[in-house]
Amino acid sequence: MTDVTISEVGPRDGLQNTKQFMPTEAKKAWISAEAAAGVTEIEVCSFVSTKLIPQFSDAADVVAHALTIPGLSVAALIPNLKGAERAAATGVHKLSFPLSVSKGHSLSNVRKTPEEQLAEFKRIAEFLATLPKDKRPALSGGLSTAFGCTIDGPVDEKDVVRLAVGLVEAGAHDVSLADTVGYANPAQIKRLFIAVRREIGDKLTGAHLHNTRGLGLANAVAALETGIKTFDSSLGGMGGCPYAPGASGNVVTEDLVFMFEAMGLRTGIDLEKLLAVRQQVVEALPGAEFHGNVARAGLPKGFGAAA
Ligand code: ZN
Repeated sequence: MTDVTISEVGPRDGLQNTKQFMPTEAKKAWISAEAAAGVTEIEVCSFVSTKLIPQFSDAADVVAHALTIPGLSVAALIPNLKGAERAAATGVHKLSFPLSVSKGHSLSNVRKTPEEQLAEFKRIAEFLATLPKDKRPALSGGLSTAFGCTIDGPVDEKDVVRLAVGLVEAGAHDVSLADTVGYANPAQIKRLFIAVRREIGDKLTGAHLHNTRGLGLANAVAALETGIKTFDSSLGGMGGCPYAPGASGNVVTEDLVFMFEAMGLRTGIDLEKLLAVRQQVVEALPGAEFHGNVARAGLPKGFGAAA
């Protein structure tokens, strides 16, 4: 029984921004250890062009390993139909499709306007519908730069709502809002999650938050208060965005789990074990940058997980 779901995106969002190639065996060991700590959903890789991001040249191998872990929901990012075809062939459970609300970010990231990327999403949904039901992954739409963009600046909330509706109409299983570059504040988070929920109801499930300006946890609480139960985060706060200059890491998984458990919300994750996984990943990636306050300060004396 859990009250909130933590979706670990470090092996994807984190490694996408790590220059050093993480050996395939180390990726597999990370995923296994984090699942053993109680994490039930992990975005394990991205099916992008491996010329563009060599880090994910072993994507199929990593998915195959993750699928052997009982009870783990295995997700992968796919930026286009080609990626969806490659990913679906691996048997992955869930496909996460990024749709940037801002034109500038969309053009830099996938060389398509938001409208063109929405059309690509429709093609993917149509392709998935041709697969037998037991081989058909769930298709999630993630609205990137929903709270602002390092290239275009402010993003019109009407565009976020419109594209969320577009994703659902095109066949999205669920939709999440992403603060890709860490511009959001809690008031904005509340306003926008409520506005999108008004249009697509319970199809709005997730928050993908970055901690670039230190508001990641505050924003998570704001999203929680609007009814959001699924939160993306990355171990050690790895990550960023290659096309969003200055965007640093995701919300730190350890800190997020600590906060929820301290608030009495069950995550199903063993924090001591999670901190050990962090150490394992730090050792496997000596050149990478890691963040996180709980890892630095330790757990409070007498700390108990949510009952
Ligand atoms: Zn991100």
